[in-house]
Amino acid sequence: MTSTTPTLVAAAAALNASKIYGKNDSEVRALDDVTVDFAEGQFTAIMGPSGSGKSTLMHCLAGLDTLTLGKVFIDGTDLSGLNDRELTVLRREQVGFIFQAYNLIPTLTALENITLPLDLGGVDVDEAWLNEVVSAVKLESRLTHRPSELSGGQQQRVAVARALASRPKIIFADEPTGNLDSRSGAEILAFMRHAVNDLGQTIVMVTHDPVAAAYADRVVFLADGKVVDEVSSPTSEQVLDRMKKLGS
Ligand code: ADP
Ligand code: MG
Repeated sequence: MTSTTPTLVAAAAALNASKIYGKNDSEVRALDDVTVDFAEGQFTAIMGPSGSGKSTLMHCLAGLDTLTLGKVFIDGTDLSGLNDRELTVLRREQVGFIFQAYNLIPTLTALENITLPLDLGGVDVDEAWLNEVVSAVKLESRLTHRPSELSGGQQQRVAVARALASRPKIIFADEPTGNLDSRSGAEILAFMRHAVNDLGQTIVMVTHDPVAAAYADRVVFLADGKVVDEVSSPTSEQVLDRMKKLGS
């Protein structure tokens, strides 16, 4: 069911990855020997019940958290072999992360938030691409507003645009459409699909929504910190069916 030998040169991979919180009686295995890879230019959805380890897996793959056992790779680079400075550079240049809670900077405008990773990295903004991203998330008329002046959905769209702006090697998105109405959600998913199809972007997205998962090329199911199933070219019906079987 799960591949035993991941392609370590995939855009991202985990090899026998375990993350254990606490000790003895209070021990929680958030990840329990996970081996999985995410091919370049693919859109993958990660699904599973609450507490199954989805966020932990993405945080560890993105270098935002460290494993207890095992290894994670970004584009073939073993993250455990990097020092703090190298990890910071890799995260900034190769990884985009869309957090569940947006994580926007309150004192910056929407546009400043979107270009922040580029500004921090001293990278010139690709204006044509930036315009395409901004128009895809329909933020043209909101660029000078601060997060407090934006709705939840608009803040989420800023967070999505920020991740896409630098065209990172891989984007991790933790329930990017969870706070959006279905129409705004569909627009963001369609744009993510476009970025994968037409620009070769790699995206890994956590979602609870079978309709959102059906935008992906592949769905990986987690339960109790393990990969328990996967589906290629999913339809929302197939995803729902698997979710029922897995009791999630
Ligand atoms: P998901 O994103 O699938 O809902 P998480 O990856 O957030 O799940 O969590 C997986 C498991 O690890 C859960 O049982 C959760 O309670 C536990 N966990 C997550 N973060 C911590 C932490 N910082 N300390 C202790 N336990 C944690
Ligand atoms: Mg989570």
